[in-house]
Amino acid sequence: MIADKMEAYVTGSSLIRAMFEESKKMAAKYGADNVFDFSLGNPFFAPPAEVKASIEKYLAYPDQVYVHGYMNNSGYPEVREKIAASLNRRFDTQYAGGNLFMTVGAAGGLNTILKVLVGAGEEVVAFAPYFGEYGNYAANVDARLIVVPPSPPTFEPNLEAFEGMVTAKTKIVIVNTPNNPTGVIYSADVLGRLADILRRKQREFGTDIYLISDEPYRELVYTGKEVPWIPNLYENAIVGYSYSKSLSLPGERIGYVVVPDCVSDSERILQAANVMTRTLGYVNAPSLMQLVAADCVDVPVDVSNYRKNRDLLYGGLTDIGYRCVEPDGAFYLFLESPIPDDVEFSARAKDFQLAIVPGKVFGCDGWIRLAYCTSYDKVERSLPKFKELWESVK
Ligand code: PLP
Repeated sequence: MIADKMEAYVTGSSLIRAMFEESKKMAAKYGADNVFDFSLGNPFFAPPAEVKASIEKYLAYPDQVYVHGYMNNSGYPEVREKIAASLNRRFDTQYAGGNLFMTVGAAGGLNTILKVLVGAGEEVVAFAPYFGEYGNYAANVDARLIVVPPSPPTFEPNLEAFEGMVTAKTKIVIVNTPNNPTGVIYSADVLGRLADILRRKQREFGTDIYLISDEPYRELVYTGKEVPWIPNLYENAIVGYSYSKSLSLPGERIGYVVVPDCVSDSERILQAANVMTRTLGYVNAPSLMQLVAADCVDVPVDVSNYRKNRDLLYGGLTDIGYRCVEPDGAFYLFLESPIPDDVEFSARAKDFQLAIVPGKVFGCDGWIRLAYCTSYDKVERSLPKFKELWESVK
């Protein structure tokens, strides 16, 4: 018999994954070419050439223990130093390699940092719409996820509601910008005001409230809008990064977490993260991928394919009549369900071979997420299907 706690995980298992599995069933029925899978943020485009060159270089490296062996659980020191130096150039910061630990993707980083910081009964706050897995990550550490209601049509963090929801138990606030599922980039103004609220609440309760910035989409930006470096706005900010999207490597599981010196108890947090990376069973982030990430640290991210998809999809859907949030970044488009029930709408979409994800998954009923990290051809050929779907519900 599985543990009681597991029952909730299994029954509440991700609707995104369910939709992804559904699209595979549709592919078996109609042929993969005739199924339009907008379910999972799984990049269609190949990693940059530098990734392959780096992998080949290390596969031929004479010291195989160095390339494939264990290392310090926080990662190779020289890899962390290279990443820190790159961050310092980009964000005018002064991090050392020791401010970072390498992680098993963004998910591994978030779970480690939650384990390090959150005690039983403490609260983790997220702004809807949010990456649905945060609920499971909070449950992993017996914390409650407190969800701040969404604020359409901008979908910036709803600060009015937030202020009243911060309590003496609030340990962590998570932000994700560019955002999954909306593609919105939070403005420096809103993030600055969020930081002010956190400072006030820390003083009021005499606690530390850590702001975790979950940034797997940092470089995927289409509008020239700035993605603020959050530790420059708030002292107790920790950044989680992943190469899953920027280098098209989601299955390779590589990322890092930055804990700046000014973060309260930074040294202890980094020591604890070193231990937790091991005891949670990750042991260390994948060795070969750490070396590849260091080689590719300054490789420019080519967003041209995503931009083309975004323009085509946003233009095509709004022409049909859908109300969409125009994405600034990431590779998701958020649209208002034309019928009130987004779960029902996504179920109906299957009749048109469209795999789309209800907003309910992200704490935002009545909306739909499309992941457009697919081929241009698929986006183009999906538009008549979206039109038929629209006509079927109007
Ligand atoms: N955070 C957000 C906002 C995401 O969208 C994702 C993946 O889609 C993750 C975390 C997990 O990323 P990774 O695959 O690097 O663990």
